[in-house]
Amino acid sequence: MAYDFDLYVIGAGSGGVRAARFAAGFGAKVAVAESRYLGGTCVNVGCVPKKLLVYGAHFAEDFEQSQGFGWSLGEANFDWATLIANKDREINRLNGIYRNLLVGSGVTLHEGHAKIVGPHEVEINGERHTAKHILIATGGWPQIPEIPGHEHAISSNQAFFLKELPKRVLVVGGGYIAVEFAGIFHGLGAETTLLYRGELFLRGFDGSVRKHLQEELTKRGMSLQFNADIERIDKQADGSLNVTLKDGRELQADCVFYATGRRSMVDNLGLENTNVTLDKKGFVEVDELYQTAESSILAIGDVIGRVQLTPVALAEGMAVARRLFKPEQYRLVDYKMIPTAVFSLPNIGTVGLSEEQARDEGYEVQIFESRFRPMKLTMTECQERTLMKLVVDAKTDKVLGCHMVGPEAGEIVQGLAIALKAGATKRDFDETIGVHPTAAEEFVTMRTPVAG
Ligand code: FAD
Ligand code: NDP
Repeated sequence: MAYDFDLYVIGAGSGGVRAARFAAGFGAKVAVAESRYLGGTCVNVGCVPKKLLVYGAHFAEDFEQSQGFGWSLGEANFDWATLIANKDREINRLNGIYRNLLVGSGVTLHEGHAKIVGPHEVEINGERHTAKHILIATGGWPQIPEIPGHEHAISSNQAFFLKELPKRVLVVGGGYIAVEFAGIFHGLGAETTLLYRGELFLRGFDGSVRKHLQEELTKRGMSLQFNADIERIDKQADGSLNVTLKDGRELQADCVFYATGRRSMVDNLGLENTNVTLDKKGFVEVDELYQTAESSILAIGDVIGRVQLTPVALAEGMAVARRLFKPEQYRLVDYKMIPTAVFSLPNIGTVGLSEEQARDEGYEVQIFESRFRPMKLTMTECQERTLMKLVVDAKTDKVLGCHMVGPEAGEIVQGLAIALKAGATKRDFDETIGVHPTAAEEFVTMRTPVAG
């Protein structure tokens, strides 16, 4: 049968755009549907605007520290509306770039909500289109528990468009988004409390990293409330929010921001017209080739709930495009050694196994750890300390994990990820000459294990 398209991609986010562009580049006839914003979550309400706000928040400490170097600046003032307007302008520019990228690579763009009406058919804006393959790349959506008063809370989707900076912010959650946004609000001058239901935030990260960040955020004056969860939120006559915790305590805030994970976005997608199945958490089930239970339908990115990171969605999109249209270049996505950063203030950068994971997996480990005051801060009042840690397999000398909390940790860990992916040993690290004077050189000068 002749189809209108070889590939119909639903969702022009990180994964969808990558798959569509590359498939078109390999000669396929491709369409992509987008209901909201070109570039998806990452460009519009994720990585990019988040990082711009993190940069904005960082200036507060830069101004303060500059005094140690002889600068006197007068009173610094911050205007939220300017930051948001400039951020919006930059995102608009990126939307335009995404449009050009798609159209320029020969992809047909359909703007509207796409619904799958059959294994090879999609309906959008009242029109139906057939395709040999359909790719679901519809991403995720913030998930807020339905406690009484949850309608008064916001998620990251709204945080990027607040009309003004709230005076008192309560951030709920202990994952990436909670920690990053608590840093943004705190850095920009809001009285910020981070509320997490467990013992210590950032579950799954290395224990030293979690503890170190806790200490650093506490030093900065952020209120960290662990083993705490909200029972209800009540709006007061003056518009402020009264928050009752499960332990009976009450807190007042002007904004309650939930960052409690993201569900798959499959709303009104028409999956009931197909054999596509969802897993227990509601993510689209796929095999290692991103094939759903319906042979003509594939899925990638956040909607499959594997690793919710942009570079992973990009790699999956590329893998699908290659497998379908350039099989000689096809390679499986390798999910081992995915580096990641949390853009908290200070940043976390990490790749490979945490000490806890390595021990759980039965490795006999050697731990190298260094904590120091960064050189830039030695002439300032700031007492921030950097943490660097290596987890090494005592038997093979292979470096299993690198972890850092400190300025530019994300930038530093990207290079280390290549070394770990190539199977670097501790000896390779030791024999690498440092770049002096940098913080990063500490990763090649740690000589004595702190624990075995
Ligand atoms: P998305 O980028 O979400 O794209 C899906 C697209 O599909 C959307 O544009 C949506 O509008 C569209 N769509 C949905 N349903 C339909 C439909 N029926 N019809 C038509 N279109 C539809 N990752 C990082 O690696 N680094 C970071 O620093 C980072 N920061 C983040 C910060 C925040 C606040 C958030 C929320 C996420 C962040 N992420 C980060 C995660 C990253 O944004 C996602 O992993 C990534 O965007 C997933 O890409 P995707 O293609 O799967 O989905
Ligand atoms: P995460 O899954 O990272 O964290 C969710 C947090 O919310 C956890 O601390 C979890 O606690 C807590 N939580 C979950 N449900 C509840 C509940 N019902 N009540 C109270 N607390 C709850 O999700 P995020 O929303 O922070 O981010 C989504 C994903 O987006 C991330 O996992 C990441 O993949 C990606 N992202 C990446 C970024 C980056 O690369 N820098 C930045 C931002 C997002 P517990 O640990 O106890 O389960």
